[in-house]
Amino acid sequence: MNKMVITCAVTGAETTKEHNPALPVTPEEIAVSAYEAYEAGASIIHLHVRDEKGNPTQDIEVFKKAMSLIRKKCDVVIEVTTGGAVGMTPEERLAPVTLEPEMASLDCGTVNFGDEYIVNTLPVMREFASAMEKYKVRPTLECFDLSHVYGAEVLIKENLIKPPFHYGFVLNVPGGVKYSVENLNFLVSKIPQGSFFTVMGIGGRASLLSHYGAISTGGFIRVGFEDNIYYSKGVLAKSNAQLVERAVRISHEAGFEIAKPDDVRKLLKLRSE
Ligand code: ZN
Repeated sequence: MNKMVITCAVTGAETTKEHNPALPVTPEEIAVSAYEAYEAGASIIHLHVRDEKGNPTQDIEVFKKAMSLIRKKCDVVIEVTTGGAVGMTPEERLAPVTLEPEMASLDCGTVNFGDEYIVNTLPVMREFASAMEKYKVRPTLECFDLSHVYGAEVLIKENLIKPPFHYGFVLNVPGGVKYSVENLNFLVSKIPQGSFFTVMGIGGRASLLSHYGAISTGGFIRVGFEDNIYYSKGVLAKSNAQLVERAVRISHEAGFEIAKPDDVRKLLKLRSE
């Protein structure tokens, strides 16, 4: 398939309006930004939500509202986070999976997150994988490190997740593995044959370079304010859509068509397909 799948992570857990005033925070703002990203060419929206104070929350009522507002506007594939935010319990993080989104992120190991850390033990990962299987949610196996690729392999060997496998390589988190062509290539070489993967570079430069990395390794692209708030050095992005538009241009230049949500449903064998 010569189609590029573009995910847009519109909000995330860490970014605030002080970092970039265009950050969508309320369910209404998130739905508008998700729709603009979809119109620009994103086929998957990676979804985090915030409470009334703008802090990250895994409250299913807020997820439900954001999801229904997005679905009213378009048929984009929704991938909810189960990474949540630093300090949340596994139960909190898993909650939005019960809303039966088509996809969800599944962190495949423990990782430094700046001065904080995110804990994912194998028992937690098994619990998350089993819940996703139960609710027919396609996991994105998020790997911040080589050990996470092997963590995911445990889940596969134990038959807790079924193919097709979709990995997400998250590179350049402060205190984690840096984004480089060499690191990306190495990680890609370790996943099962026939797997799909999306490349995420955290921070302006890594995010942009990761588009080219994805293109040259056969992966998919992720953009959005969760990963990067800049359009170029020192220049804030105006919107999530602006970042999607650039990813579309780069993909077109490399000879790709842009995947539609229904292409993703077929490719990743999502529930609705
Ligand atoms: Zn996320």
